[in-house]
Amino acid sequence: MQYIKYNNVTSSCTTKYSDLHDCSKLVSARYPVRVTDYYAGLVRRQHDAIWKQCMPDVRELEDDSQCPDPLDENVLSPVPGLIHRYPDRVVLLVSNRCPVYCRFCMRKRHVGSGDAPMGEGELRAALGYIAAHSEIHDVILSGGDPLMLDDKSLAKIMTGLRAIPHIAIIRIGTRVPVTLPARITPELCNLLRTFHPLFINTHFNHPAEITASSTVACGLLADAGIPLGNQTVLLRGVNDSVETMRELVTGLLALRVRPYYLHQMDLVQGTAHFRTSVRTGLEIIRGLRGHVSGLAVPHYVIDLPGGKGKVALLPDDVSINGNTLRLRTYTGEEVLYEDITTPLE
Ligand SMILES: *Cc1c(COP(=O)(O)O)cnc(C)c1O
Ligand code: SF4
Repeated sequence: MQYIKYNNVTSSCTTKYSDLHDCSKLVSARYPVRVTDYYAGLVRRQHDAIWKQCMPDVRELEDDSQCPDPLDENVLSPVPGLIHRYPDRVVLLVSNRCPVYCRFCMRKRHVGSGDAPMGEGELRAALGYIAAHSEIHDVILSGGDPLMLDDKSLAKIMTGLRAIPHIAIIRIGTRVPVTLPARITPELCNLLRTFHPLFINTHFNHPAEITASSTVACGLLADAGIPLGNQTVLLRGVNDSVETMRELVTGLLALRVRPYYLHQMDLVQGTAHFRTSVRTGLEIIRGLRGHVSGLAVPHYVIDLPGGKGKVALLPDDVSINGNTLRLRTYTGEEVLYEDITTPLE
């Protein structure tokens, strides 16, 4: 497997922001730093929402309270690079390079380390496992970022998957439309469309990431018939307000990207300074539901430690007393609803 060749990537962000120099060296020795010139160009001022997502911070080194792999992804890995947690779907980690190393990444232990894509032997073993498990219907390519692989390598992986009759759908999780939108070329889209049904989940966290370039990238993918979803991570000081989130989710719909998940941050070492309370997440969902198009409202999920899976949370708007439900509407009004069913004949 080969990575794409690309220019204009700052291997360290210190050139533009010299006061970061000492800190970034220390941090990047443990957690790699990489930012594309495109993404760095979205920074408007120090410590804004784009800055915080990509610039190293000493607090990454101070957080030793938590675990590098709280979701036990390594334990749930039957062969290297494959995570089989749910019965019918697997995650295949095909790359550990990304255009930008997000400081809050849940695979912080993995991205950038060694910086090598999945090898031929590993791919063969993973495809063998998937082929031998007919209960698997859904394969999610992840990483790192799968779209950091060149077109030929991607084609090889996807062709391998499509040769397995029980694989119904393929998904790709990628932040490339946000951090390196120029990677989404018409050639790539023409290749991807030959592997339908293919879904792509991208990863916008802030309305400032919706630009002319990311709009073009999403448009090309959508025009290739690929349903687009979005996973957002709830990040303190970045997107933890109703206003920001409303702008983000409605902006995404206009790009034909459907908000899918809003993730409570995992308990990953080196990321504690980004964590918000679950109460904040619930207030955001309450501020979306009914106030913006239902198509724009994501599921708010916690991925439970120990690989126990994702649980969706809703604000507490229902109380049940016998057959009487007390429901709270989006305007805050309390309404009683009788749950009446007639017996089956
Ligand atoms: C999130 C995740 C999936 C996919 O879950 P969906 O709810 O189907 O999107 C599959 N496997 C693992 C290990 C995951 O973390
Ligand atoms: S693009 Fe995704 S995998 Fe890569 S660093 Fe960012 S969050 Fe992690």
